[in-house]
Amino acid sequence: MHIDDRGYQFADAVYEGVTVRHGRMVDLEPHLDRLWRSMGELRIAPPMDRAPMRFVFSQVIAKNRIENGFLYIQISRGVAKRDHAFPTKPVASSLVVTLKRLDVDGVIARAGKGVKAFSEADIRWGRCDVKSTSLLPNILAKQAAKEKGGFEAVLVDKDGYVTEGSSTNMWIVRKDGVVQTRSTADNILPGITRATLLKLAAELQIKVVEEAFTLEDAKGATEMFLSSSTGCATPIVELDGQKIGDGTPGPIAKRLVEAYQRYMDA
Ligand code: PLP
Repeated sequence: MHIDDRGYQFADAVYEGVTVRHGRMVDLEPHLDRLWRSMGELRIAPPMDRAPMRFVFSQVIAKNRIENGFLYIQISRGVAKRDHAFPTKPVASSLVVTLKRLDVDGVIARAGKGVKAFSEADIRWGRCDVKSTSLLPNILAKQAAKEKGGFEAVLVDKDGYVTEGSSTNMWIVRKDGVVQTRSTADNILPGITRATLLKLAAELQIKVVEEAFTLEDAKGATEMFLSSSTGCATPIVELDGQKIGDGTPGPIAKRLVEAYQRYMDA
């Protein structure tokens, strides 16, 4: 990396994270759609078209000979003398693609046990729909949750509503059995796993409403779970030291984990 890369200097960059399962990229096209949208919103020029980019990804997977992994893609505005404003002369955007092994079976096993989470104030900006590498508030929240013994931070806005996790979307199952997750129109990242789980839930005839819920709603829920490309639909069995439901993974999360596993393996 060049020290004047704007990704390095300013986090003037966008990214994606794609799970690779049995050598195949899970939900590649929606990830590419979101990447293109993020670039468009920030006026970062795509470093190449979608077809060659798909080819680069497949080469990275093939050459690393990794069957189950996490493909990380980062695109910055490019290299230019440090100045907050965009470079005056057009520069090529920088593309970085890495692949690391991911223990997908371990993710499923963790989902079978559930995790603990802690609420943290959401101090992020007004464009959380853009998947930008400017992740400092997310990092601080995750670290705070980790230091308390949690796996994830549940971000809460100033009105007491849960927005999402530090790197996950949040879901609850209400006492009436309806699943609730915040709308993507409401300043959160439109998770790709979230969208897939919505489709799988519809197939399983599980009722879902896309509406914001509060931290108190979450604490009174019968189930809570998080979703992300590397987290599947992991149940949250304890929030701020308080059990969710009976403190074990609930039936709806279990059904969604199984359905997601079948979806990845198909
Ligand atoms: N929300 C935030 C803030 C994230 O950073 C992520 C993933 O990195 C997600 C949600 C989950 O998105 P996806 O399901 O596309 O991995």
